[in-house]
Amino acid sequence: MTTSNDAYESLLQFMYRAPIGLVQTSLDGDIEMINPKSAQLLMPFSQDGSLDNLYTLLQDSAPTLRQLAADADPASGIICESLRISLHPEAAPSPSSPILSLSMLRLVDDLLLAVFVDVTLEVQHEQQVLSRKLSEAERVDKLTGLPTRVAALELLQTALDRPATDTRYGCALLYISCNRFKLINDALGYNIGNQLLSLIAGRLGSTLRSRRRDGEVMDGLPLTARIGGDEFAVMLDDLLVPENVTGVAQRILDRLGRPYAIGPHKIYCSVSMGIVVQNRDSGNASDLLQDASLAMEDAKRAGDSRYAIFEPGMRASARQRRSVEDDLQLALAKNQLFVVYQPVVGLQGEQYIDGAIDPCAGMEALVRWQHPVRGVVSPVEFIGIAEECGMIDAIGEFVLDTACRQFMTWQALLGPRAPRKLAVNLSREQLSHPGLAGIVDGILRSSGMPASCLQLEVTESLAAQSGSVLTRLHELKALGLTLALDDFGTGYSSLSSLHQIPVDTVKIDRSFVRYGDTSLHHRILIDATIRVAHSLGMDTVAEGIETFAQAEIVRQLGCDKGQGYLYSKPVVAADFASWLTDTTVASKS
Ligand code: C2E
Ligand code: MG
Ligand code: MG
Repeated sequence: MTTSNDAYESLLQFMYRAPIGLVQTSLDGDIEMINPKSAQLLMPFSQDGSLDNLYTLLQDSAPTLRQLAADADPASGIICESLRISLHPEAAPSPSSPILSLSMLRLVDDLLLAVFVDVTLEVQHEQQVLSRKLSEAERVDKLTGLPTRVAALELLQTALDRPATDTRYGCALLYISCNRFKLINDALGYNIGNQLLSLIAGRLGSTLRSRRRDGEVMDGLPLTARIGGDEFAVMLDDLLVPENVTGVAQRILDRLGRPYAIGPHKIYCSVSMGIVVQNRDSGNASDLLQDASLAMEDAKRAGDSRYAIFEPGMRASARQRRSVEDDLQLALAKNQLFVVYQPVVGLQGEQYIDGAIDPCAGMEALVRWQHPVRGVVSPVEFIGIAEECGMIDAIGEFVLDTACRQFMTWQALLGPRAPRKLAVNLSREQLSHPGLAGIVDGILRSSGMPASCLQLEVTESLAAQSGSVLTRLHELKALGLTLALDDFGTGYSSLSSLHQIPVDTVKIDRSFVRYGDTSLHHRILIDATIRVAHSLGMDTVAEGIETFAQAEIVRQLGCDKGQGYLYSKPVVAADFASWLTDTTVASKS
């Protein structure tokens, strides 16, 4: 028969031997009873080797404990449950820096019971699982299931380090970047953008798998990875001859360039590709990827759906571009940019007698850069770079603002002899920004420029592109200004799609005009362009007129206006005013 004394003795024995720490304290935290496990667990927390008061002992590790005890709900008596206590909270868990879990209860009015459990190992395990998960996330792209850039670099390095077999030439790295993916994201949202990326990854995989099916390669699949938001890499290390790479590249370009169907949308997303072909046994993976990306940028600059093969010279031109980029950052602040004006003259109407022209039809504003070392730099050299480095908006605003103010100055000074219209170029990048119409409106207001006198020029390849660009064009037109399609004939859109673009003027590119008087083929194209434009209520400007013969041809074909060195090169504002005065006098006499 067990007595209550025996039971008490058993309880004490249990407490004494229990593998968990048990401590009984007064309301003030004075320790009244402590079992050996507690003493072992709490000793590292004691600064003077004593275990007298629980609050003092834990004041650094659990400073709120006293307050928690005071606030405890009397009904349940719970002070805290599984509170994690660590000697060095900022350190990783280690046996020398244990982590304890504390649960505390108010038993009767003046008695508290604390239970300590050593959870150091548990926390270590949790952290290992977490870091494994993190490193998996770092290595596997969640959206496409492909290796990430980090993983691709490792795999690529392993492949490069592997000795080449005698039958295979070496490897090629293909760096694939989607063109204008941002426009798709902006227009259709991230969800569709993500679906599109998965489809692209899938199509890339199936294109490469088909090489195997077709017996083009024997074993293994090439390494495919997603190395950036809209960028993929493919490593082919099964090339028998290096020339094979262009066949694969072209097939990828063709397949990825076909439309994607997502819900009701039919989406076109072409890609540009950079290729590095390299002997195995040599090279560093990140250098190889870098070289491939330089080639890709070259391909992208050349236009849609192209590949470029890396050449060492690309490194030097990339350095040159970067130095232009650095200088350009300062150009605006240092007032090195300025605007020149080229007249746009009237070719039809009563003024046109024996080659005399209407000099006041308009002018085009063109930006220039007075570089401290290189002299005057052409926009052809820096507009593209400004687009890439995010400076085009600031430059575009500067040109528009300067030109509008200049236009108004001439209106005030010259009255009816002032140009009637101002044309300003917009770049591809500017058109992708939703705030563009607001900025243009602000400049019109602050300069006092009537919207109807402003014409914004967009390039042909650009205007035909996407719904979001069309939306932007309509927003601009809603301000009351007009739009011109620049360089017509050099892009992809055809005469038959001209009606889809909300422009008022078509500018026939110089490459047509310069052969207008010598080539029947070009004359027919100019004629057709003018006819279609007029049938749609648009007027026409012939660009780059250099000779009387060219001027006469385009005039006879009905072209409304002309622009070119025959009349004047682009000149600074003061020279433009003199040109206007001289030409007005000449055309009257
Ligand atoms: P664009 O808008 O088609 O401008 C016409 C270009 O043809 C100008 O070159 C002009 O100087 C040149 N040009 C005019 N008449 C003749 C001619 O008779 N013969 C020859 N050979 N060339 C002629 P520029 O000023 O070097 O500008 C080149 C391009 O740079 C422009 O082509 C335009 O696309 C872009 N650009 C210029 N200024 C700006 C700007 O402020 N913003 C943006 N986004 N682009 C600009
Ligand atoms: Mg232009
Ligand atoms: Mg042009």
